[in-house]
Amino acid sequence: MCSFCCPKCRESLRLEGNGYICPNGHSFDKARQGYVNLLMPNRRHSSAPGDSREMIISRRRFLESGKYDIFSDKLNELTANCLNSCRENTIVDCGCGEGYYDGRLCEYLDKLKIKYKLYGVDISKDAVKAASGKYKGVSFAVASVFDIPIRKNSADVAVSVFSPMAESEFYRILKKGGYLIYAVPAARHLMGLKEAVYDKPYENEKKDTAYKGFRFEGRHSVRGEINVSGEEAVDLFKMTPYYYKTELSAVEKIRGTGAIKTEIQFDFLVYRKEEAETYEDF
Ligand SMILES: [Zn+2]
Repeated sequence: MCSFCCPKCRESLRLEGNGYICPNGHSFDKARQGYVNLLMPNRRHSSAPGDSREMIISRRRFLESGKYDIFSDKLNELTANCLNSCRENTIVDCGCGEGYYDGRLCEYLDKLKIKYKLYGVDISKDAVKAASGKYKGVSFAVASVFDIPIRKNSADVAVSVFSPMAESEFYRILKKGGYLIYAVPAARHLMGLKEAVYDKPYENEKKDTAYKGFRFEGRHSVRGEINVSGEEAVDLFKMTPYYYKTELSAVEKIRGTGAIKTEIQFDFLVYRKEEAETYEDF
């Protein structure tokens, strides 16, 4: 069994009335959309950490065009391969955003008649609000991927798509032998879009694949090419980290460029939690 746990004492939360409560009496309200806010105040967070409402709207609009479905399809397939069809599986999407990949994962697993509980956490309240308003088969919470409100040794699969690598926290929540599916941008991901903005765009760095406590199982590359223009190109740009770092004129440049052809490339890195305890007890 798995459910969200109390961010203060890590005991299991149970639903009572309109909220969640742990055995030590810590309680958390359930929002109208169904999610629970389990993000603890932290000096390092801003008052509204994570993606803004504007970015969430752009992301949802872009993803619903289906242009990233080659990635969602691969994530579905890889996740299903890590599950045990004889029992209920626990999956945690660490940095779930507005929930598009979770919604499609539910549809896919339902079709295969695989039993699961899917949890999604994201530090952006606006993202979680949008996710829980739309995808009712998933339990969503506002939380940091560095402090996931899931009990230790309880997840069969942890998924992280373009979110920070929180290796010790992923290690903590996974069962021994559990899988981590970590999606990262490959070298030429969005190169065409970057060329529309920058004179000399750089390729993405190839990420290191070694993480403490995990055995690397393999890299699954997905490559495609898409055409975007106008507002859709702007939506795509807003999904990237470059949006934070680039002047507003870049957005105008993209909007005015016309059709942009760009490579899209994800690498899915699959890991397994090592059998031996690597970290100190949590
Ligand atoms: Zn508690």
